[in-house]
Formats: sequence, structure tokens, C-alpha cells
Amino acid sequence: MKAINPSNMEILNTYKTHSDQQVSQILDQVSTSATQWRTVPISSRAILMHKVASILREERSDLGRLITLEMGKPITESIAEVEKCAWVCEYYADHAASFLQDEFFESDGSQAFASFEPLGTVLAVMPWNFPFWQVFRFAAPGLMAGNAAVLKHASNVPGCALKIEELFQKAGFPENLFRTLLIPSSAVEAVISDDRVHAVTLTGSEWAGASVAAAAGKAIKKTVLELGGSDPYIVLEDADLVACAATAVTARMMNGGQSCIAAKRFLVVESVFDAFVERVKSLIENLCVADPLLESTQMGPLARPDLRDELHELVQGSVTMGARCLVGGRSVPHTACYYEPTLMVDVTRDMPVFQKETFGPVMPVFKVKNEEEAIRLANESEFGLGGSVWTRDLERGIRVARQVQSGAMFVNGMTKSDPRLPFGGIGKSGYGRELSYYGIKEFVNIKTIWVGASQP
Ligand code: NAP
Repeated sequence: MKAINPSNMEILNTYKTHSDQQVSQILDQVSTSATQWRTVPISSRAILMHKVASILREERSDLGRLITLEMGKPITESIAEVEKCAWVCEYYADHAASFLQDEFFESDGSQAFASFEPLGTVLAVMPWNFPFWQVFRFAAPGLMAGNAAVLKHASNVPGCALKIEELFQKAGFPENLFRTLLIPSSAVEAVISDDRVHAVTLTGSEWAGASVAAAAGKAIKKTVLELGGSDPYIVLEDADLVACAATAVTARMMNGGQSCIAAKRFLVVESVFDAFVERVKSLIENLCVADPLLESTQMGPLARPDLRDELHELVQGSVTMGARCLVGGRSVPHTACYYEPTLMVDVTRDMPVFQKETFGPVMPVFKVKNEEEAIRLANESEFGLGGSVWTRDLERGIRVARQVQSGAMFVNGMTKSDPRLPFGGIGKSGYGRELSYYGIKEFVNIKTIWVGASQP
């Protein structure tokens, strides 16, 4: 397994994958740790979770650098990602006890309540695009709920995967409570079917999600799937165009456009279409695309050459069908994985950039007649993750938000994840929820305890 710097294609490090025997040994060790950890009081778990948050904050520069080297996002974004991980650890350290309190029900017993108990060992199959955040947003609630974890991270970020394991160790969590498996995706099914694994969470593409869910279904194990998206960004005629255009560029171009909740289909009412396009065009032209280790860089390379090539195919396919690139539309020649920030117009709903998830810095802007057409097109997607609507009329914004079928809608803001808010999708964007109190309840046994009359 190789970690390759996508900004220059240099090999950063080579790692030996774990053999089947090593995987089995790790699962044994994790199981032992899981049995002990479930008996540790939540208040003691919280102390360790706060500790890992402090380490993340102290080491944010080095950890950020590791993220940037392995997957190419600008260093300022990498450091912000590490800080957000600290936030989610603190959030669950502070709130897990109240989220997991017994819940009482009326019944014919003297009392009846639900107790929220750990499931055991959860396998997390994770993507490279937020190599720390995706892991911590599962691990913080998971460990606070009393579970153990094994991580199968994306093959291009092995250094991040091992570093996260090390951070939990350094914070004083029991040895083997959180372990990383360096295995290819072809080895995942065997881990899912192993009796020492009790549930699976996957963040990634719909293909990976379908494959993992099928394996978990066969083994009758709980899954949460956080998959792709093609979020609509609706601009109504009464939107504040200055704010809305600036946010549109961030919502699309952040992380090199490689975010599941990036705005991907811009649906702009015709009366403000030209003004919107003019504003985003000048912002996109002025983006600083450079070495991601420089603090001034706003966009680095994409994470892998194959991802850059797939993106280019979607752009080219749409151009062949009549779309025009006002900015960009090309791989940057001779420069590893860089792709030009791209603005497209004359796009229609039969084109690849509408139909598929564009996982990179490509902004296709669609002209729509009115609010109704915007909602209709927003819903013409097999995905349903997030979305935004822009209007000066907040009641109208909420009305539109209710009509778009997705896991989240933001009025006058970009879609973002926040430890306090539930996060997840519908349709091909997956199922289940992360974050907030919903997230911590995904991997618990909701156990009903009914108590009869006291015996004489
Ligand atoms: P990916 O190719 O699906 O990989 C994600 C993880 O799944 C990796 O660890 C990968 O391992 C593994 N994997 C791939 N195929 C598998 C299979 N058949 N069985 C078991 N495991 C498998 O996705 P990606 O390219 O890393 O990430 C981009 C995708 O993730 C986009 O679609 C994006 O929208 C989505 N995403 C969704 C969310 C969300 O919260 N909804 C967040 C971030 C990203 P290998 O690397 O070894 O192949």
C-alpha cells in the first residue's frame, strides 16, 4: 500500500498490508478490549475523549500537514479539519451521558425503560476526502457509547489511518480499542462476516455502499451508509447575489470540490442568471490554485489521477452535448493531479454533469424559469444528501427547503456538517444518521427492560 503525494506524485511511504492472520489477531485483541470498555463509566470515557481532543488541537499543524501530503487539500483546510475533529470529540464527551440516559415508558409493569447499550465492535470503512473528520465523526460517538472500532481507511491515506490509531493510544484509551486494518477493499467482506464484528458504517461511493450493505445483509449486521450526493444550490430572484455567489464558490470549490455535500447543481432563476454567472466567474478566475502546503493556496490537486480523469470525462461528455466552459475545463498539463476550477453554462439535465456526481472543482449553472422548476430539477436526482436555497424571504426559503427531498437543506447558507445537527442522506445518498444524538444511537442496542410488581 503506497501513500503518494498528489501534488507531485512522489511516493511518501510504503506500507505492508495486514495478512488474514494479522487481521484475525487484531480482531481478537479488539474483542477483548470491547468487553472491558463497555463496563467503563461514561464519565471516565469522557475524560479520555477530552484528552484526544486536546492532542488533536496541540498537534493540528503536523496532523494537517499529513492530511495535505496524502490527499492534497490546502493546508488551512486540513488544519481546520483537525480542529473540527477536536470539536466532535468534545461534543460527545460532554453530551453522551445525557444522550444515553435511560428512557422511561408507560406500561403495565411497575416500570419500563430503554437502556442504550453498546453493540460491540464496529467496522468503519472510510473515504480519503476528509481523512480525519470522517473517522472522528463516527469514532467519537461510537467509543463514547461503549463500542470498540476497527478502521478500514481508503488505500491512499494509510498514514492518516495509522496516525488516528496512534492518537487514541496516546490519549490513554485501552490498548486495541481502536485499531486500523491495512487491507484492500476486497478483504472487507470477510471482516464483515466475522463474528467478532457486530456492525458496519461506510462513508464512500454508492458502489462501495451497495457492496458493504450486501455483505452486512448476508451476515445480518446493522449498517449506516453515508454515500455520494449531487446537492442542488437554488438561487431565487430575490437572493442576495453578493453573498450567494461568494458562498456558491466556497460550497463548490472547498476541498477541491471533493466533498459529498459540495453544491454540485446550481439552479438559478433566469432573471438573475447572468448576474450570478458574472459574479462567480470572476471569483473562480481568481482562485489561487497552487502547492497545497502554502497557506495562500485555495485549491490544490485532486487526490488521485484516476479521479481527475473521471471528472474530466464528465466535463468533456457534457461539452460534447453542447455545454460551454466559461472558465477551466482541463487538467492542468504536466502537473500531477491538478484540475482547473471550471465554470459551465448551457448545461441541461440530460448531461453527465447533471446526472452524475461531479467530485471535483466543476460548477455547472442551470437556468430555470422559476421556483417551481428549480424544485422539480432539484428533485430529479437519485441522490438526496444536502442542498441550499437562497432568498431574502426566509418563509419562502423554508417552504422550498421542505419540498426538496434530501437529508438536509440550508436556507441562505452552504450545506455543512456540525456535531450538533443530524447528518445523512436518503435515496442513493445512503441511510442512517451521524452526529447529534441520532448519531450516537445508531450503534447501540436499544434494550427494553420491563419490571413487574415487587415479589412478597
Ligand atoms: P470509495 O471508492 O467508495 O471508497 C470509500 C471506502 O470504501 C474506501 O475505504 C474504499 O477502500 C472502500 N471500498 C471501495 N469499494 C469497496 C467495496 N467494494 N467493498 C468494501 N469497501 C470498498 O469512495 P471514495 O472515492 O474514497 O470517496 C468518494 C465518495 O464518497 C464520493 O461518492 C463521496 O460523495 C462519498 N462521500 C460521502 C460522504 C457522506 O457523508 N455522505 C462523505 C464523504 C464522501 P479502497 O480505498 O481500498 O478502495
